[in-house]
Amino acid sequence: MLKSGYTIEDFNAIVGGDFLQKSQHNIIKHIVTDSRKFELREGCVFFALTGSRSNGHAYIKDLYHSGVRIFVVSQNLDLNNLAQATVILVDDTLQALQKFAAHHRDLFHFPVVGVTGSNGKTIVKEWAYQLLYRDFHIIRSPKSYNSQVGVPLSVLLMNENHNFGVFEAGISQPHEMQKLEKIIKPTIGIFTNIGPPHQENFSSVDEKIGEKLKLFAHSNVVIYCRDHNDIHRNVKRKLKSQNLLSWSMSIPADLTISLIEPLEKSTKLTGVYKGKTKSITVPFTSPASIENICHLWLLLLYLEMDDEKISRRFQELTSVAMRLEQLDGINGCVLINDAYNSDINSLTIALDYLKFQSKNKRYTAIVSDILQSGEDEQTLYTRVADLIRSRKIDRFFGIGKELLTHKSLFTEVEARFFETTSQFLKTVSKNDFSKENILLKGSRSFEFERIADFLQEKSHETVLEIDLTKMVENLNYVRSILHPATQIMAMVKAFAYGAGSYDVARILEYNRVDYLAVAYADEGVSLREDGITIPIMVLNPELSSYDTMIRYRLEPQIFSFRTLEYFLKSLRSSNESENYPIHIKINTGMNRLGFDLNDISKLGEVLANQNNVRVKSVFSHLAASDEEAFESFTRKQIEEFKLASEMLESKLNHRFLRHILNSSGILRYPDAQMDMVRLGLALYGITTHAEFQEKLQPVSSLKTVISQIREVKAGEGIGYSPKTRLVKNSKIAVIPVGYADGLPRLLGNGVGNVWIKNSVAPIVGNICMDMTMVDVTAVNCNEGDEVEVFGSHLDIYEMAEHLQTIPYEVLTNISQRVKRVFIQE
Ligand SMILES: *Cc1c(COP(=O)(O)O)cnc(C)c1O
Repeated sequence: MLKSGYTIEDFNAIVGGDFLQKSQHNIIKHIVTDSRKFELREGCVFFALTGSRSNGHAYIKDLYHSGVRIFVVSQNLDLNNLAQATVILVDDTLQALQKFAAHHRDLFHFPVVGVTGSNGKTIVKEWAYQLLYRDFHIIRSPKSYNSQVGVPLSVLLMNENHNFGVFEAGISQPHEMQKLEKIIKPTIGIFTNIGPPHQENFSSVDEKIGEKLKLFAHSNVVIYCRDHNDIHRNVKRKLKSQNLLSWSMSIPADLTISLIEPLEKSTKLTGVYKGKTKSITVPFTSPASIENICHLWLLLLYLEMDDEKISRRFQELTSVAMRLEQLDGINGCVLINDAYNSDINSLTIALDYLKFQSKNKRYTAIVSDILQSGEDEQTLYTRVADLIRSRKIDRFFGIGKELLTHKSLFTEVEARFFETTSQFLKTVSKNDFSKENILLKGSRSFEFERIADFLQEKSHETVLEIDLTKMVENLNYVRSILHPATQIMAMVKAFAYGAGSYDVARILEYNRVDYLAVAYADEGVSLREDGITIPIMVLNPELSSYDTMIRYRLEPQIFSFRTLEYFLKSLRSSNESENYPIHIKINTGMNRLGFDLNDISKLGEVLANQNNVRVKSVFSHLAASDEEAFESFTRKQIEEFKLASEMLESKLNHRFLRHILNSSGILRYPDAQMDMVRLGLALYGITTHAEFQEKLQPVSSLKTVISQIREVKAGEGIGYSPKTRLVKNSKIAVIPVGYADGLPRLLGNGVGNVWIKNSVAPIVGNICMDMTMVDVTAVNCNEGDEVEVFGSHLDIYEMAEHLQTIPYEVLTNISQRVKRVFIQE
C-alpha cells in the first residue's frame, strides 16, 4: 500500500461505490478480508466478501467492536450499531477488491514477474526472490497467496520502496485468469508446467493451458520449457506479440541444456545461450527442482546478470520449506515450527496461526533476525515489535545481532535477546517452558531445528502424521457439492477417527463447520477445556454424564423415553432449565439407537408439554449408504425419516434441523442433504467410492524409522517362534512399531508391507508388541531412514483388506502412544 494510504474518496471513485455513511475515519492503509486474523491498525478497511459458505457481513459487528472503522459491503446493513464507521456500498466486494488492486498495480512501473502453471509456482517465486533480493527491493506474494483473493491482497502490498515484483497466480476454473492478469499485469511471465490439478473443470488440456496463458496477455516476455509439447503448441498459437524465451533439454531453444551432470548432492547444468556455453551448479538433484531452476536461469539471463554472479547465486540457493509443523512440546506446550522463509509477511501469518491455538493460555514467540528483507533495520524491527504487541504475545525471544541491537523497540512484552541460537540454548532451561503455545520462526541460517529438538517432547519414533491442509481441502470439496445453506456437522468421535480430537476440532472450528459430534461426554469436555466453543453433539450420552454435559453445554442425542426422562430430570436440578438444545435420533432401519416410527406421536406430546429442552435437530443414520445393492433400502430409510420428522414437526410447532447423510450418503444421495449432513470418513480423505477417491486426499500417514539393519543368512528365522526360514541371505530392517501401536499381528509373515525409499518391503516373521521386521534385501536403505506403514504410497484400503476390515478400524486402532504430528502447507 502507499505510505500515505488512500483517501476514502479516492478509493470510492476507484471501486465505484456509494457511501452509506461517512465518519472521521477517512484513510485506507491496510486491507482485512478475514475477520479471524487481522492486526488492528489505523486505516484498516474490512471487505465483507461473500463466498458460497461464508458471508463476511456476518462479522461486521464483531469487527466494529474490535476497532475496525471502515467497511466495504455489498448488502445493506443496520448502521445503528456502527455509529463511528465509514461504510461503502459496492455491487460486489470481491470485484471491488480486485479493481482496487488493479488500480494500485498501475501506479508502479518496475518489472513484475508473474508465475503460473500447475506445480512449482511457490518455489519458483521464492527462488526468484533468493536469487534477486540483493539487486532489487522485491515485493512478492506471501506464502502461496495466488487465488482470486490472495492475488489482490499480495499486489496491494506494493509500495514506494519496491522496485521489483514477483507474484504467483493460480486458477481452478475457466475465466479466472483474466481477472488476475488485470491485477498482476506481469511484464515477465514464467509458465512452470502443466499437470492434472483442476483438470475436471476444463474440457481439455489445451483449454486449461490457454486459460493460464491469459496471465501473459500484456507481458513483454514469457519463459517456458520447450519440452512440454502441449505448452509449446499453445504458447505459439496464443502468444503472438510476446517475446518467447524457451529452454529445452532435447532440442534447440533459447537456452539449450546440453549436459546434466548429477553430482553427490548437487547437479551441474551446462547450456548454450545466444551462442555461448555457460554452466551452473545447483545444490539440488530432483527433476522437479532442475525444471524450476532452468526457468530461473533463463530469467537471470534475460535480466542480463553476469555469468559469474549467476553461478554464485545458484550455488547459494536453499530449499524452500513450505509446511508448518505442529508438535507436542515439553511440559504441555504446543510447538509450532514454521521453517518457511522468514520475512515480515510470513511472520504475520505464523503469529496468527500461533494465536489460533487455544490449548494453552500463554503465547511465546521465538524469532530470529529477518534476513534478506531489503528494508532498513529500524523500520523492519519496528514492524516486528508492533506485530508482537498487536498479537498480544506474552513472551518474546529474539535471536540474532539485529534483534539484539533493536531490543529497545520491544515494549509491553516480556522479552529476552540472544546473539546466537547456541547462546539461547545455553542460557534457557526446559523448565522455562510450560503450558504455553510456542512459535519457532527462524531464518534458515539460525538452525532453529536445534531449538525444535530441544523443545519437542521426546517420544518413540513412530508418528501418525496428519495433514491438516488436506483435511481442509476435503472439507471444501464436500462443501462444493452441497447447497450453500446446508450445515455441516463434523464427526470427531473416537479421537477424530484416530487423528487427534483437539487439533482436528480446532481447524474445523476455524474453517467454520457448524457442529462437532463426539461419542462420549468426556471427549466433549476436553474439547471445551481446550477452548472449542462451537456446538457439540454427544452421540452416546451416558446417564451418569448428564450433569457434566449440561455444565459444559454439550448437546445430547436423545434416543429413548428413558434417556429423555433422565435428561429432563438432570436439567431441572441444574440452572439450565429452559430450552436446552437436544437432538432426537430416529431409527429407520439401522436398528441401533433411536425412537421407532410408532414412538413419534407420544414423543411429540412429551416434548410439547415441557420447556426444559428444545429440539435442535432430528436425525437418523443410514445403514448401507456405501453399498449400491442397498439403494432402495436406503431410499426407504430416507422416506421414513422424512415422514417421522414431519410428524414430529407438526406436534412441536417449531422448525428444527433435519439430517440423515453420513460421508457416503453425502457423496451418493446429495438430494437428501436436508438441513445438515454428518461428515466423517470423507473428511479424513477416505471413501469406498473410486470416483470420489480422486477428489479426496487421505490425511493420515503412519510413519517410523529404521532402528537397525542386519544381514541374516539363508536358513535362519526372524523374530518370535519363526514359522519359516529365510530361503536366501537377506537384509532385514527392524522398525519400532508393533501391535501395541496398532499394527495388527495379522499383517506378519509376508501379509503386509511397508514403504521404504520408494520400494515396497514385506513384513517378515511375527509382528512383536513394539517392533516389526521387514525384508529390505532389494532396498537401498540405511538405519534412520523413514518408513511409511500407510499413507500416500501404501494406501490404507489395502491394509484394511489384508485385515478383512474397513479403514475406520485401522485408523481408530492406532494407539494413543503414537504421537500425532500435524502439518500444514
Ligand atoms: C460416525 C457417524 C457418522 C459419520 O459416518 P462416516 O461414514 O464416517 O461419514 C454419521 N452419523 C453417525 C450417527 C455416526 O455415528
